[in-house]
Amino acid sequence: MTDTITRRNMMELGAGATLALTTGSVLHAQTGGQASVGYAVVGLGKLSLGQILPALQRTKNAHLAALVSGHPDKAKKVAAQYGLPETAIYNYENFDSIAKNPAIQVVYIVLPNSMHADFTIRSFKAGKHVLCEKPMAVTLEECERMIAAGKAANRQLMIAYRCQYEPVNVTAMQLMRKGTVGTPRLVNAVMGKQTDLSDPSDAWRLDMKMSGGGALADMGIYGINATRYLLNEEPVEVRGWARTDKNDPRFKTVEDMIAWQMRFPSGAIGDGSSCFSQPGTMAWQVVGSERRLVADPGCFYGGNSVRIVGGRNDPQPQVAEIDHFGNEMDWFGDVVRGRAPNVSPGEEGLQDMRIMHAIMQSVANGGQTVKLDTAYRRTYDPATVVGVRTSA
Ligand code: NAD
Repeated sequence: MTDTITRRNMMELGAGATLALTTGSVLHAQTGGQASVGYAVVGLGKLSLGQILPALQRTKNAHLAALVSGHPDKAKKVAAQYGLPETAIYNYENFDSIAKNPAIQVVYIVLPNSMHADFTIRSFKAGKHVLCEKPMAVTLEECERMIAAGKAANRQLMIAYRCQYEPVNVTAMQLMRKGTVGTPRLVNAVMGKQTDLSDPSDAWRLDMKMSGGGALADMGIYGINATRYLLNEEPVEVRGWARTDKNDPRFKTVEDMIAWQMRFPSGAIGDGSSCFSQPGTMAWQVVGSERRLVADPGCFYGGNSVRIVGGRNDPQPQVAEIDHFGNEMDWFGDVVRGRAPNVSPGEEGLQDMRIMHAIMQSVANGGQTVKLDTAYRRTYDPATVVGVRTSA
């Protein structure tokens, strides 16, 4: 069966409405031909150079308008590579002058975590919308200031949770909402990679002040976020344990491994781990009363899949591969033009931060259970507002 979902005008959308929006080319074709949105990319590190800038060559609703870097030579080289004039290069000091550049509508913050809040707030002061990488920031107070600054400026803040806009994960959410697994019992998520202190891209990740946490803040966040969007509910309490070899020079200030458990109101348990001394892994599985959903890998940049395990001759989901980053930037292009809902606003980033901080608090207290503030509810369920083409 091919499941092609129609897009309706955003004006018809009410919170909780069953609206399905297509991603990819169908979405792009229906943006009414409006000019695409200009992005300033802040930070020219691994993610920007390897994924974001190449993806911006293929986007339909988004294009590269400026670069912000602390390295003038690198910025000039990258600008030339992408056909940008030198006038479109900013540094961290003159960044605020982007206010005078109407070609920039969105600032995409791809900096170490401790710099997210400052650059988000400066972007809002400059009148721009913000797409900010995960984790949203380092402290809960920073997250709250970022959200308040966006509201004060009347600008959108989206946290770059690419998997919430990505067909494999969205298909899995749709299968969950259809009851494919029966009653969900457990979501298990295993996230990790090897870190290398001599790699500058890992050095700040291994520095508590810059990262706000070790493997949990960098990779565990995917598992926590996936558990929440798969179950479509919020945990009421958490606990966690850490395993860290303090003689390993990588782990002087951050943890290596944290394992966690989260209890959900339905009775489902979220269980997972994040680790900075294991091979690259981004896998999750849902165990239900009737079937399992298995995604391994589930959150890599590509090559993800989800399988239904335990049924009888269940047709397996066939999900097309997309560019996660291009898709996400296109989506946000539509958000700022009022054509698509902001599925992962600042409040969504803050919720993961609350949970991760509660897990870290539990770790610090020998695995004691920590109760969570249960007020947060997501406004839009990606399973209904982010459509995908699947055949299952
Ligand atoms: P990176 O270290 O490769 O790049 C960071 C950039 O920030 C570099 O250009 C560096 O020069 C610059 N920078 C400015 N001040 C710095 C300072 N004081 N110390 C270190 N670098 C400084 O990191 P990255 O892997 O590109 O990650 C950037 C952000 O993107 C992080 O928030 C990370 O969590 C996030 N990220 C998200 C994904 C995803 O799949 N969504 C993947 C990787 C990284």
